[in-house]
Formats: sequence, C-alpha cells, structure tokens
Amino acid sequence: MYRQASGEWDLRRYSSEGKRGYVPIDGFGHPPELPMALRRDAMPEIPELSEIDVVRHYISLSQMNFGVDNGFYPLGSCTMKYNPKICELLAMNYSASSHHPLDPQWSVKGNIEIMGRLSELLAVISGMDYVTLQPAAGAQGEFLGAKMISAYHKDRGEARDEMIVPDTAHGTNPASAAMAGYRIVEVPSGVDGQIDTEALEACISDRTAGLMLTNPNTLGIFEAKIGEISELVHGAGGLLYYDGANLNALLGRVRPGDMGFDIVHFNLHKTFSTPHGGGGPGAGAIGVKSYLKGYLPSPMVASEGESYVFRHDLSPKIQKIRAYHGNFAIILRAYAYLVSLGYGIRDVSELSVLNANYLLHRLKEHFDVPFLASTPLRKHEFVISCERIRKDTGVTALDFARRLLDFGHHAPTVYFPLIVKEALMIEPTETESRSTLDSFVDAMIKVKEECYRDPDLVKNAPYSTSRRKIDVVKAVREPKLSWMMEGKG
Ligand SMILES: *Cc1c(COP(=O)(O)O)cnc(C)c1O
Repeated sequence: MYRQASGEWDLRRYSSEGKRGYVPIDGFGHPPELPMALRRDAMPEIPELSEIDVVRHYISLSQMNFGVDNGFYPLGSCTMKYNPKICELLAMNYSASSHHPLDPQWSVKGNIEIMGRLSELLAVISGMDYVTLQPAAGAQGEFLGAKMISAYHKDRGEARDEMIVPDTAHGTNPASAAMAGYRIVEVPSGVDGQIDTEALEACISDRTAGLMLTNPNTLGIFEAKIGEISELVHGAGGLLYYDGANLNALLGRVRPGDMGFDIVHFNLHKTFSTPHGGGGPGAGAIGVKSYLKGYLPSPMVASEGESYVFRHDLSPKIQKIRAYHGNFAIILRAYAYLVSLGYGIRDVSELSVLNANYLLHRLKEHFDVPFLASTPLRKHEFVISCERIRKDTGVTALDFARRLLDFGHHAPTVYFPLIVKEALMIEPTETESRSTLDSFVDAMIKVKEECYRDPDLVKNAPYSTSRRKIDVVKAVREPKLSWMMEGKG
C-alpha cells in the first residue's frame, strides 16, 4: 500500500543561533547598502539553519504532497494529466526563460515568435480567428470574455444585462459574469443531462447578453442540441461564450468555433500540460471570432513578414487584464506540448474519452450514474452519485473520496456539478494505463464494501497520509499562511 512521508523536517529542532548556509564572500560582490530608514530594528523571527537543514525541510515537504507524479489523480474538470518532462525541460531553458518583459522587442524575437505560433495553433484547434495569451487563469479569461461581450453590446447601443448560465456550469462562470456586472439567469438541465432548450427559450429576451457553456458539459455529456442553442442565442442578439478550460475530449476532432461559439477560453495549465494545483500559476488564453478582434486587450502578437511583433493598440476598447504578456513559462510549456504531439493531439482526445468510458463501464455495475439511461456514453469525464451509499451507511461522498488516498489514488472531484447529489466527478485523462485504471476500480469497489461493513473506517480515513483527516472548515476560517516561531501569534 502507498505511504506518504510522515512528517516535516522540524525547523525548530535544528535551528540554533548563528547557524548559516551560504555566506557571500568577497569577489561575488556585496548586496547594496540599504538606507537606515528601511532596515529592520531587530532580526526577523525565523529559524537559523544550515543549507542541509533547509534542503531536507523542503524535500520532506514535497514528499508530504500528493501529485500526479506519484499517483493517479482523477480530479474531474481539472484534467490532472501527466505533464511530459520534455515540456518542463524546455520551460527551464535559460535563453527562453531569463528575459524581462520590458526587454526590447529585437532582443526577445524568439519568445514573441513562440507566443505568436502558440496563438495560431490555439486558433486552429478551437476554430477561432484571434487569440490573446494575456489572462492568467481560466476565470480571468471568463471575466475578460464577459467584459468583451459587454463592450460589444454597448457599441451597438444595446443595454443587455443578463448572462445565461446552465445549472451544470463550473462555479467560475456565474462568478466571472457577475463580476463583469451581469445578472445571472440559470437555465436548468433536462432529464438527459443536457440544457433544456424549451427552458432556454423562456430565459432569452432582449436583455440577454449571452450564454456561457462548456461542451461536453461537466457531466461529460455532449450538448447535442448545440446548433439549436446557438441559433436561439444568436437569433436574440446574444453571444455564445465557450468555457474551454478542458478541451481534452475535443482536441483535433470538434471545434467550438464550428459549433457557433464567438469566444473561447483555454486553460493552458489543464489541457496543454502544466503542473497545476494549489492556486497556480496558470494561463487562461482566450480566442475570438474576427468581429470581436477589436475587443482583445493590447498588445497583440502579430506576424510581420518572417517574424512576430507586439502590436500596441493605442486606444484599446478593453484595457490590459494582467501585467505584461501572460505567464510565459506556461505559454512555453503549452507550445512544447503541442509541437511534440503534432497531429497526435487526436490521440489525446481518443484516449481520454476511451479511458473515461472504460472506467464508466466497469464502475456502473457498482455505483449509480445519473443520466445513463438517456446517454450511455460519456466524453472525457463522468459523474457518479454516492447518495444511496450515504442513505444506507451515513458515509458521504467526501468521506468516500478521502478513503481512496489510502489506496494510493487522489480523490475525485466531489459535490460538483451541483445537480448530482453526493457527486464524485471522475476524469482519468489520456495518460493513464489500463492497469492503473483497473487498480482504481478495485479501490472504488473495496471502499464501497467497507462503507457497508465498517462505515467508521471510511469516515475516519485517510490513515496513510502525512496528515490525517483535515478539518476543512477550520482550514478555511483560520488559515495559517506563514511560519511562526513557537508561542507566537
Ligand atoms: C478549472 C475550470 C475553470 C476555471 O479555471 P481556473 O484556471 O481555475 O480559473 C473554469 N471552467 C471549468 C469547466 C474548469 O474546469
């Protein structure tokens, strides 16, 4: 059975006065003298350690974590695929990563070209005309998209203040639209787990600015009526926004632009390979159709003859959303990922959908899967409900998910989408082998048996991790974000 490191290197124990690691010596230069007014009166209260203490501290911290490099991580919607190490190596390449964003353009031509070429590839993949790499996260891309929709309608002299969002949407969709000033109108899903088009029609009016949709939706079901949905929204003068945080099911096969979407955001850190989690860093590039080009923030990367340049629009309709040009290290990884795969991106979509349906097929005998009768197959992910297990045994989806850690698997996403009770959302991704998927199925079946045989065993899990069951409410209400000496704060 999988075991994680049991504790951090105790800093207090190894700290003693005057202990030092690296000390600058003559010849390497001295740090500039700070003005007296800016200096501390007393030493900061941090441990005093040697280099080896610090190394051991950070290495043991890293071993307390669960990551995709040490186990299966089927976190639905988040696409925790294995990140090929070649992308990491390229991202560390000194000549690409050592520039300052204010370096003159002539000195960073290669970097600008990488940005230009990645934008072009993303435009082809999504069926859009122009792409900006500026947003730092999916949610920031959504916010920018919502602002663009708002500016677009304003330019037409129209006061449209409502954004339609389905009840299966990722929480960031209504949050971003609300931040951009919209009133959110929720459209319900029908019995087939897809948008109910009659209900959609009832939501649409001359106040409709647009619809935000992800397709396949968060149940892993493809919205087959997307053509009709697009006609309804566009017919009423609204725009269609595609939440493309996760393009795994579509890569090289289906394009949001061809489905009628006007704006798309991409989570480069999910689909296009960057280790993510713990809040970043990310990249939430967005693509638009040509009629929205004027709403992209400046500067844009444009091709000029053989090379690429930043083109600054002096009177942009939308201001910059992030300092400089986006998270370049992630842009570099995404470009390396796409170039290393080439047409192989079609295998990504094929294998991610195959893996999800293989898991679904093996698990559906043992678990309740909503909407299976009307839609027997899924795209890259699927959602099961632990509601019956909770009613029978008192074990919740969260307890169930935690217990999986003792079997060496990260927990799936829980309680999302909101329309499924006690939801476990499972996304295996394309990078997992059949034997890994089988061992996950074995663990799921075993935990279910435990729920009925010894529910407390599951409720008190996990047992094998560096930290036992965590009080998540306390962690949110009283976060400790910095280290403190004993007895302080
Ligand atoms: C992850 C995700 C987002 C938000 O992306 P962030 O980069 O975390 O802001 C939006 N929509 C869906 C469907 C997602 O999975």
